[in-house]
Amino acid sequence: MLETIGILGAGESGVGAALLAQKQGFGVFVSDMGKVKEPFRQELENHGIEFEEGAHSWERFAGVKTVVKSPGIPDTAPFVVRLRENGVEVISEIEFASRFTNATIIGITGSNGKTTTTRLTWHLLKTAGLNAAMGGNVGTSFARNLATGAPADIHVLELSSFQLDGIKSFRPRVAILLNISPDHLDRYDHRMENYVASKFRIAMNQRPEDLFILDADDPYIREWLEENAFPSANGPRLLKVSLRNYDKQVLRVGESIFDMQQSPLKGPHNHFNATCAILAAKEMGVSDEAIQQGLNSFVNAPHRLEWVAEVNGVAFIDDSKATNVDAVQRALESMDRPVIWIAGGTDKGNDYSALMPLVRQKVKALVCLGIDNEKLKASFGKLIPVDEARSAEEAVRKAAALATEGDVVLLSPACASFDLFKNYADRGDQFKAAVKTITAGNGN
Ligand code: ADP
Repeated sequence: MLETIGILGAGESGVGAALLAQKQGFGVFVSDMGKVKEPFRQELENHGIEFEEGAHSWERFAGVKTVVKSPGIPDTAPFVVRLRENGVEVISEIEFASRFTNATIIGITGSNGKTTTTRLTWHLLKTAGLNAAMGGNVGTSFARNLATGAPADIHVLELSSFQLDGIKSFRPRVAILLNISPDHLDRYDHRMENYVASKFRIAMNQRPEDLFILDADDPYIREWLEENAFPSANGPRLLKVSLRNYDKQVLRVGESIFDMQQSPLKGPHNHFNATCAILAAKEMGVSDEAIQQGLNSFVNAPHRLEWVAEVNGVAFIDDSKATNVDAVQRALESMDRPVIWIAGGTDKGNDYSALMPLVRQKVKALVCLGIDNEKLKASFGKLIPVDEARSAEEAVRKAAALATEGDVVLLSPACASFDLFKNYADRGDQFKAAVKTITAGNGN
């Protein structure tokens, strides 16, 4: 047997890495500080992979040269620091997996829009009949896809900054950096420049034959490019995307024109996401005809500006995944009807000032859905009527009462969901269920 690979964290990426390491003939040992959750425990047992839980024991890592660290574990964790001090290579699951494939990789990162763009890119490739797989942060880990999935020619990967922190030689053929806005700063010494640098790691191993697609108008991206005189002569080709002329009917990408009327991708930010996905698909040789077909048949993941129902002339939209201010800004920009806005939850140090002009222009009333709504009330109480709710059902009822025909009720919280809900999906599902109750009450 080859050397033993140590794995920290027994979630989707850790277990994926364990399966791949085993398939490649390595010894494997998995260690989790917490309790190993089902179905991962079952999976490790079924494959005869050794693991420990509740602690990382130093003795078990004796002789281990390479450790795959799950993205949830910070670099500052004492065990990780000790491993590195002892000369152990600590890498991410993305780096580990990439060492065992020659497939083409499309990597997608950014603060917002990763899942949408990853799903769309994959869908465009599949529509064109290409043999593509999707993975990373979006569900199935890259390592698991390589270990147990059907062989694919192209892997489309959603990449978080935490996953990029642990790469060394990972080199996507096409990299996409969608945007950068403050997020996860607790993991970056509260320094924005560290978070920005982490995002740019996606392109650090790219060469002139590779493509790097990024937002031409993002201030953090522009500043980093200038300061780092990027790309260098042996860096990738840059394609800077600027979406200044938004037209909801059509999308122009270079010489090509796409009809967006049938596409569920609404709003300037989604046209931007689509442009990036289209450029990646074109780089893979996909025709405009297949791209148009793919745009028409695309179905996004739930809770991202998801249209729920129209009741008595009032539309209900679930944007529960909007857990930061930037995502809410994009949601409000996308609205072309007066808005009753439902927001709130666990505040992540939000600065709401960027939303003021849009709220003034488009929002009729705010219903706060959270345990502590003081900050929202203080920020918006002088501009618009503000009410409060303690459940999705109460929020929907109050918002519906405030709405008149032609309005839209938008759940776009700007906050995490953990005060009242299990997660953003639970919040969105409860919102949708509450809307369905109203619909049923109206006999629609
Ligand atoms: P991520 O995977 O990066 O969290 P998602 O595609 O799941 O991104 O979208 C998360 C939230 O961000 C949703 O509310 C969505 O409407 C919004 N969003 C999507 N694309 C963008 C973008 N390009 N810029 C800003 N917000 C976006």
